[in-house]
Amino acid sequence: MAVQRTFSIIKPDATNRNLTGAVNAKLEAAGLRIVAQKRIQMTQKQAETFYAVHSARPFFGELVEFMTSAPVVVQVLEGEDAVAKNREVMGATNPSEAAEGTIRKEFALSIGENSVHGSDSAENAAIEIAQFFAGNEIVG
Ligand code: UDP
Repeated sequence: MAVQRTFSIIKPDATNRNLTGAVNAKLEAAGLRIVAQKRIQMTQKQAETFYAVHSARPFFGELVEFMTSAPVVVQVLEGEDAVAKNREVMGATNPSEAAEGTIRKEFALSIGENSVHGSDSAENAAIEIAQFFAGNEIVG
């Protein structure tokens, strides 16, 4: 598997509890390199665009409200098989189903406030990266 990039977000529940460094330590220990990172306050429009695929789901309003409730840290991660590797270190969406040692198992509060986002495919990673980063902000 070739070197790949994926998009990651450290969500408000984690930034609120000062867990940015703890999350990054897990990512780096898994072999992922943080090649771009910035702390932003997501706007409602950004959150709605980002999660547009979920717009018909019952949790959409709550999700947008949560994602805009406090700063987030958006990131580009690089490494061998980065999309799958990041999904593995994140753990299952619902922390009660997440494997031991994963970010969500250790830090997530609930299925909604689950500490991190990670792209689910290389194709979506490219779209998500482009939503938040200019090419010259990514330094591999
Ligand atoms: N989510 C939620 N309730 C649900 C399912 C998902 O609030 O029943 C939120 C949660 O924050 C999740 C995000 O919506 O991370 C996106 O859902 P997805 O199924 O894509 O999960 P992920 O890819 O983040 O594991």
